Amino acid sequence: MSELHKFIFDGLPVRGIIVRLTDAWTEILSRRASNQTTGAYPPEVCELLGEMSAAAVLMQAGIRFNGTLVLQIFGEGPVRVAVAEVQHDLSLRATAKVVGDLLPGARLGEMVNVDNKGRCAITLDPKDKFPGQQPYQGTVPLYDDQRQPIARLSEVLEHYMLQSEQLDTTLVLAANDKVAAGLLIQRLPVQGEGNLAGSVVSRANEDEIGVNEDYKRIALLARTLTADELLSLDIDTILRRLFWEEKVLRFEPQVGDSAPRFACTCSRERVRNMIRSLGVDEADSIIAERGDIEVGCDFCGRQYRFDPVDAAQIFTEPGKQPPSTSAVQ
Ligand SMILES: [Zn+2]
Repeated sequence: MSELHKFIFDGLPVRGIIVRLTDAWTEILSRRASNQTTGAYPPEVCELLGEMSAAAVLMQAGIRFNGTLVLQIFGEGPVRVAVAEVQHDLSLRATAKVVGDLLPGARLGEMVNVDNKGRCAITLDPKDKFPGQQPYQGTVPLYDDQRQPIARLSEVLEHYMLQSEQLDTTLVLAANDKVAAGLLIQRLPVQGEGNLAGSVVSRANEDEIGVNEDYKRIALLARTLTADELLSLDIDTILRRLFWEEKVLRFEPQVGDSAPRFACTCSRERVRNMIRSLGVDEADSIIAERGDIEVGCDFCGRQYRFDPVDAAQIFTEPGKQPPSTSAVQ
């Protein structure tokens, strides 16, 4: 079963989170595999999307944002876009759009960043928005300060956390077709709460970036964790092996009902709104061509079907007509 554990290092400005997605992850993969249009993910995409899922859960668990955290990678390679979304309660969903063939063993660069124009975006979409409120979004390129492509997702996200949040962060990520797992080590900001939602970062905190000895020592230990170990060892063993000389204080683990799990936020109402935004002319032409409108959810594979009567209703409900140039009698 999936699980998430938070811990701190007693007396030091360093915290950690470790996540292991099992059932939540295999559910995402099996839904994709049973999609007859796409089929299963190639192993390389499985690894990337698993690492993204683990990372998105770690980030959401770290900030406990009351809304949706969306981690996206997009570019011009055979993987056009990959998305992992995590809600406040750690329910998650993920999908990727694969348009071309992948070379075996393709890495982030070959999959998404072929022309070095790939981007990584993190969006925080509040649950209860006030009128006109836009989601907060930060983006980073998939290259470093010398414009050299970054080979690993973990490095892209470490770069993001440092640039956008002024937080020293170490991430170890790994995924296969059974487990998606991640370890996050972060230096706690000196004053106030540095977080993704863009709170003010103090001067004292800036002075600490990259220089805190306790953080550097613990980050170095964390980086000795291999992908194989992260995927195969249980969490107690990992923490003991890495930090046996440190005083680790652990919080109540999030397992069972509070563990990360798969859940999709799609609904018939959302699909209705999407069809409404297409406009009545476009909807009519799809009906004329195919007999009905069928929309599949990329995340969970659910199919939503609207026959001509359902579709007409979308545009005739009182007060729901979009501004349209065509007269509807
Ligand atoms: Zn869905």
